[in-house]
Amino acid sequence: MNALKSFLPGVGWPAVPDEHGARVLALLWQFAQSERWPAEQILAHQLRQLSPVVAHARQHTRHYRERLVGADDRPLSTLSQLRALPILTRRDLQDGVESMSSDFIPPQYGKPVEKRSSGSTGQPVLVRSTGLDALIWQANALRDHHWHQRDLSLKLAAIRAFGAGAADPPDGSVARVWGAASAAVYATGPAALLSLNADSATQAAWLIRHQPGYLLTFPNILARLLDYLEQEKAALPWLRAVLCVGETVTPLLRQRCRAVLNVSIEDVYSSQELGYIALQCPVSGQYHVMAESVLVEVLDVAGNPCAPGETGRLVISSLHNYAMPLIRYELGDYATVGNACTCGRTLPVLERIAGRERNMLRLPGGKWRWPVVGVLPYSEVAPVRQFKIIQRSLEELEVNFVTDRDLTDGEEARLGAMIIESLGHPFRLNIACVREDFPRAPNGKFEEFVCAIP
Ligand SMILES: [Zn+2]
Repeated sequence: MNALKSFLPGVGWPAVPDEHGARVLALLWQFAQSERWPAEQILAHQLRQLSPVVAHARQHTRHYRERLVGADDRPLSTLSQLRALPILTRRDLQDGVESMSSDFIPPQYGKPVEKRSSGSTGQPVLVRSTGLDALIWQANALRDHHWHQRDLSLKLAAIRAFGAGAADPPDGSVARVWGAASAAVYATGPAALLSLNADSATQAAWLIRHQPGYLLTFPNILARLLDYLEQEKAALPWLRAVLCVGETVTPLLRQRCRAVLNVSIEDVYSSQELGYIALQCPVSGQYHVMAESVLVEVLDVAGNPCAPGETGRLVISSLHNYAMPLIRYELGDYATVGNACTCGRTLPVLERIAGRERNMLRLPGGKWRWPVVGVLPYSEVAPVRQFKIIQRSLEELEVNFVTDRDLTDGEEARLGAMIIESLGHPFRLNIACVREDFPRAPNGKFEEFVCAIP
C-alpha cells in the first residue's frame, strides 16, 4: 500500500493532497470506473469529448480552418462522422507548426509547452500542448503504477537518454523522487539515473550498487544487459520488474528477461505528441488504450477499421490538446487489434505494437511483413553482440554485425541462412562485421531493421 502525501502540517492521516495532487487523484478515481464501462459508453464519451476540440481547431487554427471547409460541423456522435475527417500526417506537423497551433487557448488549461519529438526517423516534430495534457499524462503514469501494483517506496533505476553531464557513467546521478507524477501524490523512494552511453558492464555494476526495486530502460539496452548478466552469472535479486519504454518489446525479450532475471517486463506505449497511448495489461499482457485521453483507430490499407488479429496503421486523436489539435493523426506506427481482455477492463485492446513503417520488410510483389529478428539466435552461432539489417532494394540486404572478432566463412554462411529463413525470402546478403557498437538516435532508440527503399 503506497503512502499518500499530505500537504497539511500535523495531518498525516487521512492524507490531504494539494490542489494538483487532488486533481490527479480525481482523474484516477474516474479512470478506475471508465475502464470498466461498456465499450459503446466509452466510445460515446470519446466522441463527445473530441467534438469541442474539433470545433476549436476549426475556429482557432489555420490548418483546420482550411482543411475542414465544407465538412460536416455537427458534434461527433458516430465513428463514420469521425472517419469523414481528413487524416493528419507527420508531414503536416513538420511543415505546419504555426498553422497547426491555436491562436487562442483557454487560460484555465495552463501555459502552453513545446516538446520536440526526435523520433528514430530523424525527422523531428515540434508539438505544443498545455498543462491540461500534462495533468492527464501524470494521471496515466500513476494508473500504470496502480495497475502493476508497484511499491513506490522502493528505488527506481532508469537507464535512458540524458543530457551530457546529467547522468554520466560510471556513477550516474540520483534524484529524491521517482518523477513528477508519482511525487505529486505519493511519498516515493529515490531514483537513480544513468545515461545509456554506459556499457553493459558499467550498467550491471551500477545496478548492483543501487539495488533498485525497478529498472526502467529501452528494450535494446535490456537485451544487451541480459546477455551480459547471463554471461557473468550475475543476479539482481531485489528487482521486482523491468519497465520498458521507447521501442518495441518482442516476445523473445520477455522470455529472456524472465529466464535471466526472473521478473517480467511491464511495457508502455507512448509518444511525445500524444502522451500515453496504451499500457500493458497486468493480467493478459495485451495493451489497453488510454481511451480517456486518446481515441485510437487501427486502419487497413483501404482506410477501413481492422478486425481483431489484423495489423494496421494507427490513427490517433488527442481528446484534450487545445494548443495544437491532433485529430486523426497518423504517427507512423502499426499495431495488431486484440480480442476482449480477460481482466475485465473494457478499454480497447491492442494485441501487439508492431513498430514503424520503416521497420517493415518489403518483399517483391508489393507485399510487406514484420521481420522476425533477434540477436539471441545469432549469438548461439557466433560471438554476435549486436546487429543491424538495412534493406537497400527488394532483393538485397545489408547485414552489419558487432562482433569481438572476424567471423569464419562457416559462421557467416550459417548466420546468412538463419536470416534468410526468418525473413522468408532468398535475399542477397552483404554481411560485414564491426567492433564498435552502433550509434543510437538522439532519443536513445535503436532500430535493428530498417527499410531504406525510397
Ligand atoms: Zn486487460
